[in-house]
Amino acid sequence: MISSGMSVPTSFTLLERVPLAEHTSIRLGGPARRLAVCADEAQVRECLDWARGEGAPVQVLGGGSNILFPDSGFAGVVLKVGIPGLEFSEESESWLVRAGAGESWDGLAAAAAARGLQGVECLSGIPGSVGATPVQNVGAYGQELADTLVSVSALDRETLETAVLDRGECGLGYRTSRFKGVDRDRWIILAITLRLRPGGRPALGYPELAAQFPGGGVPEGEAGIAAVREAVLRLRRSKSMVLDPGDPDSVSVGSFFTNPILGAEALAAFRKRVRNEGDGMAPPAFTAVGGTKIPAAWLIEKAGFPKGLRKGGVGVSSKHALALVNYGGSTAELRSLASDIQAAVLARFGVSLELEPVVVR
Ligand SMILES: Cc1cc2nc3c(=O)[nH]c(=O)nc-3n(C[C@H](O)[C@H](O)[C@H](O)COP(=O)(O)OP(=O)(O)OC[C@H]3O[C@@H](n4cnc5c(N)ncnc54)[C@H](O)[C@@H]3O)c2cc1C
Repeated sequence: MISSGMSVPTSFTLLERVPLAEHTSIRLGGPARRLAVCADEAQVRECLDWARGEGAPVQVLGGGSNILFPDSGFAGVVLKVGIPGLEFSEESESWLVRAGAGESWDGLAAAAAARGLQGVECLSGIPGSVGATPVQNVGAYGQELADTLVSVSALDRETLETAVLDRGECGLGYRTSRFKGVDRDRWIILAITLRLRPGGRPALGYPELAAQFPGGGVPEGEAGIAAVREAVLRLRRSKSMVLDPGDPDSVSVGSFFTNPILGAEALAAFRKRVRNEGDGMAPPAFTAVGGTKIPAAWLIEKAGFPKGLRKGGVGVSSKHALALVNYGGSTAELRSLASDIQAAVLARFGVSLELEPVVVR
């Protein structure tokens, strides 16, 4: 707890020298000098104000499933957003869901499925908090947050004013947003509002998911939403993409790299390079906004980093080449493995892989 002599803030919980590895899904990160847990907007504001007075840098944390802290930890205040609240309200043809940033995302997805509401069924099982979902516009199995997001309530860290940002103002893109890009570290998301549809057909646009329902045989209505949620959870478990204390491959941040999207010129150069390799490789490719998406997992494996590869205390998941796993190593080892993979993919295919998690320095 707080050392004597320091002005002790009253409203939020403040702890000292907290191992960040205990607050991250990949179980990495040295100590946070201070960890503040804020349960409402007033506490967030008070914490920011206090940290400013102390001259301490602030790092926002949700569930810790997409963030990588250094082994040295964080020499300021890690502000964990724990704002509760989950409200469903009926409109004429849809339902609005307003959720506090500290709620579990999968809790929201489960509650929506239980009500037969369509819109987030394919995002079932994504770990972490509601407040982080707009940060990288979470997506899976052909659905993304942008499909249902109405608005984000957020607090400006500079002015301590709150604002409601409509979906169009959030700069959402493939695994990105203004919160991860131009406005990184500017806003603290307090709550989000989604619009979901009752009785809507579940989204089965993703071939691997559709294959779980041969002949398109999804039950009608609520049962269909529940069935798709279960199928997504099943698929995710098979790839260690749900957090499971019994599954060492789930000690990760999920995908470590985003799938590269190549414009026409880059795609032609990539295809030429693959042809010149002359070993009959046939890279999968998917049409995407802005070009053609090449699965990073394919590039990683072909560049010499197969599933199950270990390097020191870290490695490539035995289930999915896109996930790097901590088997008892360090952030330094993990970053070194990631750099080796990036260098090998660039050397072999001329393609740059971007990191998906937020890296704290
Ligand atoms: C096993 C596994 C599977 C995964 N599968 C997927 C997947 O299918 N699709 C996908 O998109 N992601 C996936 N992820 C990544 C991750 O779960 C999501 O990005 C999730 O939204 C992160 O939530 P979090 O609360 O844990 O965020 P954190 O890791 O705590 O934070 C991530 C970033 O968001 C910021 N942040 C957190 N909360 C707030 C807030 N309230 N206001 C402002 N900024 C905030 C943090 O500062 C940080 O920059 C997976 C991760 C794991 C471990």
